[in-house]
Amino acid sequence: MGGLMEVAQNFYEVVETTCRDLYIQSLKEIPPDVVDAIKRAAARETKEVAKRIFSHYLRSIELGQKDNMMVCQDTGIPIYWVEIGGNVRFDGAKLTTAIIKGTERATREHPLRSSIVAPISRENRQTSTGERIPIIHYDFVPDSDEIDILFMPKGSGSENMSFMRMLVPADGINGVKKFVLENVVGAGAKPCPPMVVGIGIGGSSDLCMTLAKKATTRPVGSKNPDPKIAAIEQELFEAINSTGIGPQGLGGDTTALGVHIESAWTHITCNPVAVNIQCWRAERRRAKISTSGQVTIGF
Ligand code: SF4
Repeated sequence: MGGLMEVAQNFYEVVETTCRDLYIQSLKEIPPDVVDAIKRAAARETKEVAKRIFSHYLRSIELGQKDNMMVCQDTGIPIYWVEIGGNVRFDGAKLTTAIIKGTERATREHPLRSSIVAPISRENRQTSTGERIPIIHYDFVPDSDEIDILFMPKGSGSENMSFMRMLVPADGINGVKKFVLENVVGAGAKPCPPMVVGIGIGGSSDLCMTLAKKATTRPVGSKNPDPKIAAIEQELFEAINSTGIGPQGLGGDTTALGVHIESAWTHITCNPVAVNIQCWRAERRRAKISTSGQVTIGF
């Protein structure tokens, strides 16, 4: 640790293969924290129809693991969150190319349905890639000599239920809560509840929405380290679950598996809020890759 570490010769090939595997595996194995949250929700559910839906979800999760099947047919928008250790000496252009190639290979070699089209012509390259897709977020962390890649295949049912508003400071935090609740209730069954509600507060309009999406990648039920924000997460979690929307919007005790908030400081005259919803499958998969090319898979 300490000085810069050059990556191994085959490092970019390892990144490519790993990104291919992350995409495929993320569609078949639901993260354990999500499974546990669904099991807990199923155990405390009191409505018959909701109990049946939970048992269907749990069966789909089991089939995904045991029979190597996709939990849901939607291959989503491929999104990567990449954290690069400050000690890693690497070629950023090669890293991006490796991630894109891995995405294309997942789609061709599995094969997966390519869900990505051009916005106007609706052309589909059948590669799950296109202009600015996959979406890759880069960040840097000090004192680390590895690259951490978190992948999420973002389903459209939940992505279509995304909301952003530039509130004014006079709206305060109550305006933020009202905006979240109005939109989550308005979304109803569309995002395939029970959902993980990601909320961004602060920043600029684009950062706020990115924070909302980033919030959905946290382990289900994790708390924001700021106790004031964690208290708002809990308040909104209880409020959303008191709506009775329930799994698939058919009524039930659990509408949200988790409510996560990420925040940034903002302009003196701004009060931005964004909501990005993850559906019940809340798929994600992570790989840590050392400079020598060693891969550790997780969630
Ligand atoms: S929103 Fe999620 S669960 Fe619903 S269809 Fe899309 S990927 Fe599947």
